[in-house]
Amino acid sequence: MKVTILLAALGSAILFSSCAGSGGSSSGSGNNLAADQWGHRPGPQGFSTVIIDAGHGGKDPGAISRTTGQREKDLALDTAKRLQRQLSGKVRTVLMRDGDEFIDLDVRAARASGKNGTILISLHYNSSGAGIRGPETYYWRVDSHGLATRIQRNMVSVSPSESGNRGMVRRRLRLTRNPDVPCVLAEIGYLSNASEAKLCSDPAYREKMAGAIARAILEQKDRGDAGTGPLPKPIYAPPSRPTDAPGS
Ligand SMILES: [Zn+2]
Repeated sequence: MKVTILLAALGSAILFSSCAGSGGSSSGSGNNLAADQWGHRPGPQGFSTVIIDAGHGGKDPGAISRTTGQREKDLALDTAKRLQRQLSGKVRTVLMRDGDEFIDLDVRAARASGKNGTILISLHYNSSGAGIRGPETYYWRVDSHGLATRIQRNMVSVSPSESGNRGMVRRRLRLTRNPDVPCVLAEIGYLSNASEAKLCSDPAYREKMAGAIARAILEQKDRGDAGTGPLPKPIYAPPSRPTDAPGS
């Protein structure tokens, strides 16, 4: 963590002047949909394309529930397809993977980058101590805060009250820091919690959560950041790398 903070501080000192120049044109408008490596701007409105990323796949199963035996990679793909159906006819969608395929995180980030008018949503199921449960949403970029707020809010609104609200986490991950488009990673539920794992094994529950995320995306598309609170401060930090400590 110390290393991360130091790097962030160095990045700020070194990169601020160059970014202030190139980023100036995009910082004043909430509707600049051009790709931007830092994302220090309001969230997008009126975007045309949603890239839906089902986490893990192939040799990487992600979390595996001890209660149901279900694998995160399968639940994530199922939810991605549900989300795609829910968005059908309302916004263009692209699936990062539509089968049980391993795709490196850097490849995923590269595929989502360089595309104007595009956002990226990565879908996951979480794992931790058995007592931890509830939806959680990760973001890093300033322009992803509003969308993350909407996704977390909507997931919580359709999950049972006993799941609680673990809120949003600003975390520098390869799929929250590295793409140059707005990007949010949704952790739909904890497979390590017995009752939430059972809940997530129910297709009707996954459909409901996909619906909540779809509504969040369409609200963002229509309204931008309106009603999602103040934007967080820009943070200058290097791209996330596989060698970074977990959670750094
Ligand atoms: Zn995952």
